[in-house]
Amino acid sequence: MRPIQMVDTKTQYLKIKTEVDTAVLGVMESSQFIGGKTVTAFSDDLAVYHGSKHCIPCANGTDALQIAMMALGLKPGDEVITPSFTYIATVEVAALLHIKPVFVDVDPSSFCIDPAKIEKAITPRTKAIIPVHLYGQAADMEKIMAIAKAHNLFVIEDNAQAIGCDYFFSDGRRLKTGTIGHIGCTSFYPSKNLGAFGDGGAMFTHDDELAVKLHMIASHGQSKRYYHDLVGCNSRLDTIQAAILNIKLRNLDEYITARRKAADFYDRTFAGNKNILIPFRDSNNRHVFHQYTLVLQDRDRDGLNRYLAEQGVPSMIYYPVPAHKQKMFDAFGGNSYHLPVTDWLCERVISLPIHTELDEEQQEFIVSRVLEFINN
Ligand SMILES: *Cc1c(COP(=O)(O)O)cnc(C)c1O
Repeated sequence: MRPIQMVDTKTQYLKIKTEVDTAVLGVMESSQFIGGKTVTAFSDDLAVYHGSKHCIPCANGTDALQIAMMALGLKPGDEVITPSFTYIATVEVAALLHIKPVFVDVDPSSFCIDPAKIEKAITPRTKAIIPVHLYGQAADMEKIMAIAKAHNLFVIEDNAQAIGCDYFFSDGRRLKTGTIGHIGCTSFYPSKNLGAFGDGGAMFTHDDELAVKLHMIASHGQSKRYYHDLVGCNSRLDTIQAAILNIKLRNLDEYITARRKAADFYDRTFAGNKNILIPFRDSNNRHVFHQYTLVLQDRDRDGLNRYLAEQGVPSMIYYPVPAHKQKMFDAFGGNSYHLPVTDWLCERVISLPIHTELDEEQQEFIVSRVLEFINN
């Protein structure tokens, strides 16, 4: 059996090595290391894949979120509503811009922001809702968009973990996550479902004016060379990364299928075990399984994490500490929140290896070790 890894980007690379190596060498020979045709070709293809009018590439997913907030004109003192059960980047950039993150609890099944709790968190200072499509499953966007519309709020989707996820509205419309809100943000961090060989990110919007602003802010607020109309930053997608991503984008649907197949295998073998909650799959979207995350009912989660490590099976806790309990949010009154579902999940979730290269032998081994611990 091949050693089990949380993600296996090496084996995935070897399958497309010739194409990737040729593309990377091509960039080196062209000496066009910043911007150029390769970056445009990738962002155009990614816009088409998403059915989004615009795709604006940038340096990473964290920058994408920051640039989105800047482009929407969010100011110090404004508030944004976000889940606390997320990766820190979502809320860190708000704090960086002196925007107050207002944390709302998540739904215990989907792990995404609970729309029923959003309205209570809205104040006259609220400017935006930032749902996170956690682990590859979409937040309840139909309800979130309705709340945003009723209260005249922006919606910024953090789609870093759910690229390629289809969301179905009750009227039959189907949209990719990341193209439903005013701006969608994603990341090409190597372990993400569409991962680069370094950092990368992108923003999506259907709005022409916003697209211009996002482009400008990512490029020193520049309207044309050496004319700077806005305060911006320097956030570019590397040409070499774009060349690699272009190849991987063609395989993205296949990658998602492989992840779903691995998730199906886990689901089948864990279903019915009273100590394990398998991931919920909402009928309004198709989970892309960036993570395969179990909730342990009353079993020692940290003990399982340690036991698996001894057995050569990596597992991860995403996330052991919710954002509102991170020290960085003390100044924002982080400790005053009462988010029982978030706290409950942080103590009970455990993510098993899931990626495009897992085989059944590896999965059988993982499952046998998990059950050995759980059933004893
Ligand atoms: C990975 C991730 C980000 C940040 O992306 P980077 O490219 O690492 O900056 C933001 N939000 C979520 C939910 C993520 O998983």
